Amino acid sequence: MSEVRTRFAPSPTGNLHVGGAHTALFAWLFARHEGGKFVLRIEDTDEVRSTDESLAAIYDGLRWLGIDWDEGPDVGGPYAPYIQSERLEIYEDYINRLIESGRAYRCFCTPEELEERREIQRARGMPPRYDRACVDLPEDQLQTWLAEGKPYCVRFRVEDEGTTVINDVVRGEVSFDNEVLGDFVIRKTSGYPTYHMAVVVDDYLMKISHVIRAEEHLSNTPSHVQLMEALGFDVPVFAHLPLIMGTDRTKLSKRHGAVNLMDYKEQGFLPEAMRNFLALIGWSPGTDEEILDLQQLIDRFTLEGVSKSPGIFDLEKATWLNGEYLKRADAEYLTELLLPMLREHDLIEDDLSPERRRWLVDVVDLMKERTRLLKDFVTWGRYFFTEDFPYDNRARKKWLSREEVPERLDMLAERIEALETWDVDSIEQAIRGLADELDVSASKIIHPCRAACTGQTIGPSLFHLMELLPQDSVVRRLRRAAELGRAGEMEPVGSVDEGPDD
Ligand code: GLU
Repeated sequence: MSEVRTRFAPSPTGNLHVGGAHTALFAWLFARHEGGKFVLRIEDTDEVRSTDESLAAIYDGLRWLGIDWDEGPDVGGPYAPYIQSERLEIYEDYINRLIESGRAYRCFCTPEELEERREIQRARGMPPRYDRACVDLPEDQLQTWLAEGKPYCVRFRVEDEGTTVINDVVRGEVSFDNEVLGDFVIRKTSGYPTYHMAVVVDDYLMKISHVIRAEEHLSNTPSHVQLMEALGFDVPVFAHLPLIMGTDRTKLSKRHGAVNLMDYKEQGFLPEAMRNFLALIGWSPGTDEEILDLQQLIDRFTLEGVSKSPGIFDLEKATWLNGEYLKRADAEYLTELLLPMLREHDLIEDDLSPERRRWLVDVVDLMKERTRLLKDFVTWGRYFFTEDFPYDNRARKKWLSREEVPERLDMLAERIEALETWDVDSIEQAIRGLADELDVSASKIIHPCRAACTGQTIGPSLFHLMELLPQDSVVRRLRRAAELGRAGEMEPVGSVDEGPDD
């Protein structure tokens, strides 16, 4: 077989959506699995809606996911340019060839005339299709209108009998009745080609072997195949990816979570977790493996593993997967990702000394086992960075509002203050020593101490987290909680706060 070449062909009319990222990932994984090439082509034939910001957002989103391209607008390649608005002459040439061969014709019908005729068709219960009013215009009429500069578009004259059969790797053989196609526009009144025209020409010229795209384009495919045949192009292999739905089996929308890929970055998803998650939507490695690193995804990816039925976007699963990645991630790496978030929340200084940075890596190392999203470091882990943290309702209810607690916290504060070394062992001894002296189980000191120091009932190892807090800050935290408890200000308020479950 000749070289595998796939492409991602986004229209730069908004952010990179989860669906677009999913399509890009599948086309990319397939190319990488096959040792082929992956092309990024920008389809900006919608002159009105295409923007440079959107183009930048597409680059950012793909790069964040770790998708690279062998050819594209910024890196060039043998079939440049890779932006459709820079290829207009190429399309014009093919459009003219179709006109000359009689497979395309100029149509001077105005939008109002078209609408009027569609109304009539609808009223008669017929599917609204172009009625070919301009298909065989007398030559003199055509020349007069052209000379007058009357606006026109160019339509492809479809084969309207029989069927067009698509062999789709995912969907199998799909047959379309040609009758429903209608003579579609290939060149707009503005002179721009339509998506149908540009996509067909570019897939051919860029030697795309496999067109891997979203299912919504399946219904366009018979039109594309007819165009390819009329132009004498080979038909590529098609693979239409399944729709993506929410867990309630409706089309993915904002109701199910963010649709803009980069919102997941904001929320603290790791790119490798998101990539793993997206890969498992509508594709299976054929085993029950769920955590697959980049190389495993590339090794296992085949189009045969793509499912016909809709893929489910399950945010719970994405979050779980992200937690698994956080657990396994290197603390240095996570620290780098976390720093901008901490700065945004004013939780860390801009200029980190080497010691402070080492401290932060230790905090991350301790916390990462228990987080699901990077932002959990900022919310659940807030107490590492400031004494201004909330006491959640579980901490208030179970410990901080109890009558015997303030006195114990004060006693502990005294012992902590007196410690000459500040490490896990000395902290543990102080806590266990107090418990022995009061003749209570260690947990009766440990739990209120955690609640006082962190505002929560669970978290990483208490002695280790205390070691990472300044000794004087721990003393202040214990005394403050005691004082608030005594003043009756540790009663639970409102509903149970968002926090780690215990
Ligand atoms: N520009 C089209 C889109 O963004 C690409 C469709 C295709 O891959 O053929 O939906």
